[in-house]
Amino acid sequence: MGTSDQRLGLLERLAEGPVICAEGYLFELERRGYLQAGAFVPEVVLEHPEEVAQLHRQFVHAGSDVVEAFTYYAHREKLRLIGKEELLERLNRQALALAKEVAEESGTLFAGDICNTNVYESGDAEAARRARAMFEEQVGWAVEAGVDFIVGETFSYAEEALIGLEVIKQTGLPAVITLAVHRAPETREGWSIPEACKRLEDAGADVVGLNCIRGPQTMLPLLQEIMPAVDVPVAALPVPYRTRSEEPSFQSLRDPDYEDFPSGIPFPTALDPFTCNRYEISDFTREARDLGVRYFGVCCGAAPHHIRSMAEALGRTPPASRYSEDMSKHVFLGSDPSLRRQNLEYRSEL
Ligand SMILES: [Zn+2]
Repeated sequence: MGTSDQRLGLLERLAEGPVICAEGYLFELERRGYLQAGAFVPEVVLEHPEEVAQLHRQFVHAGSDVVEAFTYYAHREKLRLIGKEELLERLNRQALALAKEVAEESGTLFAGDICNTNVYESGDAEAARRARAMFEEQVGWAVEAGVDFIVGETFSYAEEALIGLEVIKQTGLPAVITLAVHRAPETREGWSIPEACKRLEDAGADVVGLNCIRGPQTMLPLLQEIMPAVDVPVAALPVPYRTRSEEPSFQSLRDPDYEDFPSGIPFPTALDPFTCNRYEISDFTREARDLGVRYFGVCCGAAPHHIRSMAEALGRTPPASRYSEDMSKHVFLGSDPSLRRQNLEYRSEL
């Protein structure tokens, strides 16, 4: 009893209640100055492994139940693009080792990760073969590292997600498959989102849902459509940005107050004014939970305070909750009887 072998797996935890899987490493490490926006390749895993491990720890401290290896975009196509294919295996193995270390020390689940290959094209058999080969090598390293389950994420072609799913299922491990929905509420091959999720479920996905691209407000209506279409647990990992019906994706957001962006648009390095506050993330979490969503997280743009809000909205008190807001002793806005009246009376002048 009590040995790590008896630790509950993903599916057992989902049967008991919601699971939180923090991610969004690309954007957070970019903001911290360890990763370049544009190519978005996680070389930080090799160049500053301590920063990756530290971010994993901060997300666990904030309430994540899972440490997901930072192998997002650590695939052959991305490494080809930056001329460093020779780093592919070392980068993947190192990312897995860093996540495993933090998962083991914290008793959280350890997840592998694959994602959109950027080589896949609908109806192109050669592209499908290349995508499958990319999944096979990354999934192979994840299995060798001893992951508890594997996430396949940010797929905008459902057919590519189905290939990734097949590769994961061949290992016998649970598969979490999430789609990325751009402006049009459909996959790139034109399937409706509920239909795509149903097909993934039928093909053996243990969890299906959405991640990235859409913020809380424009992800919720899609989740509502997915719920009645599938029986497996549904995942929701929005970006923490104020997308809305006219600008439903974070790439479509336009800033009326500024336009001098290097990329011509706020995405990816000037989305700050659109960032959801932690209470908006709490609201999203409660609404998604009420719809029946069971697997939670926040994608690109997420920081630990968002994850803490998510955890607290689910009724948890992660270690970081020790520092959650308590304004009772604030010099001007507090209620503590020992606070000085001269300061409390000055509150309207702040
Ligand atoms: Zn993302």
